[in-house]
Amino acid sequence: MTFTVENNGEQQVAALLRQLLGSDQFGSWIDGQLVVGTGESIDLVNAATGKVFMQYQDAGASNVESAAQAATIAQRQWWALTATARGRAMYNCGAKVRASAEDLARLESISAGKPLRDCRVEVAKVAEMFEYYAGWCDKMTGQVIPVPTSHLNYTRHEPYGVVVQITPWNAPVFTGGWQIAPAICAGNAVLLKPSELTPLSSTVLAKLLEDAGIPKGLVNVINGFGHTTGATAIAQKACKKVVFVGSPKTGRLIAAAAAKKLIPCVLELGGKSANIVFADADLDRAVVGAQAAIFAAAGQSCVSGSRLLVQKNVYAQVIDRLASATAKIAVNLPWLEDTMVGPVNNINQFKHIKALVAEAVAQGVTVAAGGCVGEVAGGEGGYFYKPTVLADVDNSMSVAQEEIFGPVVCVIPFDDEEHAVAIANDSRFGLAGAVWTADVGRAHRMAAQVNAGTFWVNSYKAINVMSPFGGFAESGYGRSSGYEGLLEYSQTKSVWIETAKDAAIQFGYSVE
Ligand code: NAD
Repeated sequence: MTFTVENNGEQQVAALLRQLLGSDQFGSWIDGQLVVGTGESIDLVNAATGKVFMQYQDAGASNVESAAQAATIAQRQWWALTATARGRAMYNCGAKVRASAEDLARLESISAGKPLRDCRVEVAKVAEMFEYYAGWCDKMTGQVIPVPTSHLNYTRHEPYGVVVQITPWNAPVFTGGWQIAPAICAGNAVLLKPSELTPLSSTVLAKLLEDAGIPKGLVNVINGFGHTTGATAIAQKACKKVVFVGSPKTGRLIAAAAAKKLIPCVLELGGKSANIVFADADLDRAVVGAQAAIFAAAGQSCVSGSRLLVQKNVYAQVIDRLASATAKIAVNLPWLEDTMVGPVNNINQFKHIKALVAEAVAQGVTVAAGGCVGEVAGGEGGYFYKPTVLADVDNSMSVAQEEIFGPVVCVIPFDDEEHAVAIANDSRFGLAGAVWTADVGRAHRMAAQVNAGTFWVNSYKAINVMSPFGGFAESGYGRSSGYEGLLEYSQTKSVWIETAKDAAIQFGYSVE
């Protein structure tokens, strides 16, 4: 499979950034301005060509400190507004994102190497996130608690102050909006550190939010490496909570850094989700669902259905149908309209996928469709990996235990319900799972028994900002989205007011 890269997107990125950020330079978005970093130079690579298309400087410690100061001031202004005013500003943020949606989606598609159709969906979801949490601003009420004394006791939800958010490269604008919206809804200011590989869309998002009316300095995007800019942000005195979306390996470092400061953190980590197909399922829907579960975003999704568990009596049939459908998937340049699968985001990820598949093939796994080792699609050095179906996978193999984070599905046979649950739960992760069956009782049994923060029945990847999301086991802790996601960004204060006339006497001390 080859294609010509007629327009590698570089000029489009430059034009979009000029239009959206009003600048020919790139850096961090701090206190309402684009600030060029003082640290190491970082290359941005076009995943479709493997060529550098832009460079920028790591923010550097002094800029992170400035961002923390700006955030501290902006947070006080923001929290001093009425809840209604904050809600109105947040609703305007949603409208602003919608107005720039096509530009933002194109920028994301080219710079992150994601199919344009996926980016359009993700940008629309970002608008929804601001609209949804706009509604919560003036509905986050406390409680009056009927304590058994003469006190009036009530609770208030208060912000942490400044929160640090660290996000990965696989869905940059989506994860940025996902965490910024509840954080500011609850009254916090944000230092967002996107992946050094995909900083553009989050930076544009921060500018759009200010254009919509949120105060300068409330949302700062500090761009640079994790071990420099990310670590410096967490170390800031102003940082009172960390929300991290990324790999378990980095998640451990983040949890340790937070523990050192005794501040809380939320970890949204990886997955190795089991997508379970019983013989009684509508197999047409299950085969389509299996592809959507793994091949969207070239498998670079935390919830991807990377382990497809199929009941033995339909195993051969499902493999045949899946392999033949997979071979027809349109792999192409990410920014073209009909592309279903684009390149993987970066060279390290590409090498990681190749190595895991090579090991599995050496262990006897059958490649039923797609990229046998070394055979990759695409021209001119891009990181294209063919959508791949691996048959005869044993759940103990690395390919079934490690996160591949690529367009590779491991198909594993099972005998019965008990066996399916045992395989599904034989994983250090617990992010998501799904079952395909016509038996409603079985659907509920599976939903109750599979260790996962999200579970689908006859569906896959249905997510919405209204519904809580997060991991079990090594997929992380804490929740994002919905009211639970909002509560992660606020702390509850209990207020006690004495109402009794003879209150002082109750303490038993004398007045003089
Ligand atoms: P990663 O852990 O390598 O990096 C994530 C972020 O952490 C980046 O911004 C990086 O710069 C930063 N970072 C790295 N070292 C750091 C340090 N010492 N201190 C502070 N920050 C540091 O992850 P990735 O490769 O960018 O993303 C892929 C991973 O993200 C996968 O495991 C995927 O499953 C996970 N993910 C999870 C979710 C979820 O909601 N559960 C969503 C998307 C992606």
